[in-house]
Amino acid sequence: MNRRRIYEGKAKVLYEGPEPGTLIQHFKDDATAFNAKKHELIEGKGVLNNRISEYLFTRLNEMGIPTHFIKRLNMREQLIRKVEIIPVEVVVRNVAAGSIAKRLGLEEGEPLPRTIIEFYYKSDKLDDPLVSEEHITAFGWAHPPEIDEMMALSLRINDFLSGLFLGVGIKLVDFKIEFGRQFDNDMMRILLADEISPDSCRLWDIASHDKLDKDRFRRDMGGLLEAYREVARRLGILTEDRNVTRSGPVLVASKKE
Ligand code: UDP
Repeated sequence: MNRRRIYEGKAKVLYEGPEPGTLIQHFKDDATAFNAKKHELIEGKGVLNNRISEYLFTRLNEMGIPTHFIKRLNMREQLIRKVEIIPVEVVVRNVAAGSIAKRLGLEEGEPLPRTIIEFYYKSDKLDDPLVSEEHITAFGWAHPPEIDEMMALSLRINDFLSGLFLGVGIKLVDFKIEFGRQFDNDMMRILLADEISPDSCRLWDIASHDKLDKDRFRRDMGGLLEAYREVARRLGILTEDRNVTRSGPVLVASKKE
């Protein structure tokens, strides 16, 4: 297909969309970590992330979170609204893991005293450094009301997704999201953009503490595709490996830890 490629990232490609103000987001099979120093192709990952992200964005749209997602087009692609990406990654954390555990000397798995929101400046050259609201406003990456809006949306998204995953026996440890500005004549609104998938979340099985996310790749644990498939299956997206249905979430009886 002869479409104009607008942008190619590590795990996705953006093409121009069929109408003005739209884009096509294509999910690749590339898995990268440590700012692409580690790179592998994991066949089928893009298909799973497309489905999982579609499911989560649809649920978020339904509960009134404004998102860029319009509809899934095929196995690897979705139609999205074109936005101007705010160059800040918002990380929401419920439990200590990854960089915060290292930075602050916390035990991985330790519950945090409350949900913590962090900002990272999107820059591959600088390895996405942790920044404060001061940096964001001083350098003009976002205005104070935009930061407030991103934080309020992030907390709503966290509450909703934590409950949704808890219902299928998964703990939402942390996740990364991105926001964009949508312009409509004189109006501007902030939309949730990018993706939400096991590439951008830490998801732990509540009973076994198994990791069902990209840490399996970062830490060379193997079984990445099986883990992503398990997330999809529990969300009711896949009942069997190849059988794509829309049966809704699979309730998992809560077990005592
Ligand atoms: N994350 C992401 N993209 C990034 C950095 C982090 O999606 O470029 C996600 C990561 O999967 C985890 C959360 O954000 O769910 C927090 O990541 P952390 O800061 O602990 O960094 P990491 O340990 O992944 O380097």
